[in-house]
Amino acid sequence: MHPTECIAPSKTLEIDALAKKLLSEGKDVINFTVGEPDFPTPKNIVDKAIEALQKGFTKYTDSNGIPQLREAISKYLKEKKGVSYSSDEIVVSNGGKQALFNAFSAILEENDEVLMFAPLWVSYVPQVLLARGKPVIVRTRFENGFIPTKEEIISHITDKTKAILVNSPNNPTGGIYDKETLELIATIANERNIFVISDEVYDDLVYEGKHISMYGLVKDELLIYVNAFSKSHAMTGWRVGYTATKNKEIKKRISKIQSHVSSNINTPAQYAAIEACNTDNASMIEEFKKRREVILRFAKDYGLEFVEPKGAFYLFFKVNGNDEEFCRQLLSEKLVATVPGSAFEMPGFVRISFATSVEKIEEGMRRLGEFIKQQA
Ligand code: GLU
Repeated sequence: MHPTECIAPSKTLEIDALAKKLLSEGKDVINFTVGEPDFPTPKNIVDKAIEALQKGFTKYTDSNGIPQLREAISKYLKEKKGVSYSSDEIVVSNGGKQALFNAFSAILEENDEVLMFAPLWVSYVPQVLLARGKPVIVRTRFENGFIPTKEEIISHITDKTKAILVNSPNNPTGGIYDKETLELIATIANERNIFVISDEVYDDLVYEGKHISMYGLVKDELLIYVNAFSKSHAMTGWRVGYTATKNKEIKKRISKIQSHVSSNINTPAQYAAIEACNTDNASMIEEFKKRREVILRFAKDYGLEFVEPKGAFYLFFKVNGNDEEFCRQLLSEKLVATVPGSAFEMPGFVRISFATSVEKIEEGMRRLGEFIKQQA
């Protein structure tokens, strides 16, 4: 059977499109679906793309990304995150999404297993299936803050386990893995020669505690580090993400895949991303912090059950009954769009993205409060 028969379209994008359609029809929808910062991309970044266009930088580039961008990312990773990769170890791709797909495609042979921890982002399972691998889902527990335990991880490892996928800060829970958990995963991977793909796209968006990278914990040759500018610099539509790995063979494979699948990413976007490397995003993070406080105030007030999000911009809360039905009714009765936990392999929960204005959060949560009251 072809893998596309086993996958559905991206639920986050599908429900976002529906919310946007209703908005365009004049319906007063509060869109809590897609994880997309509502801020405009900072002007200095936009200006660099315009300048690139005006200078005629509109042609193919090195499919790994222009050397200046890879240099800039290398410097940015080192100075800002303490993550050290040279420009030769980086491949720029169309968003974190393609970076992840490149990584899966580069390491997986038919039926190789990839361990991943649910709740998980909607595209991991389809991507692994498309790369002809086998997703192995480890269900973490709400009571444990959705952090995997040693038993849960070990009991899912087989001799076909090729990689463990780590996503901290996490989408959809907003959880941040503690150092012990990350070290545990790294030790398991290092001892058994298993790759770790670390999706760290939310690493800048941390409100409580500290993000710890898998870089430095996992052996260099086993780590594929993934990051992007979409969330950190409000650049979702530009599609600039990247992989970094010190494993030369895997880097070579990723380069080949990138060159055949899309050549380079959009050329002006690459010039914009150089500027993003030098653009402070502290004010956006401050604003997310405020929004988080507002949403938490409502959530606690309503007695919702959730694990407090320490990072990213999601609230993942428990619902009574069927989550898909909950979201459907909430949208039709109150015009509040959310994503059901089933999309993240965790039925019984609903995700709210709070990457939207305080006013919209207040109004959306007010409507959610009414909805819950009616249901009770
Ligand atoms: N990652 C974001 C989300 O979960 C963006 C949409 C997507 O690519 O899934 O909402």
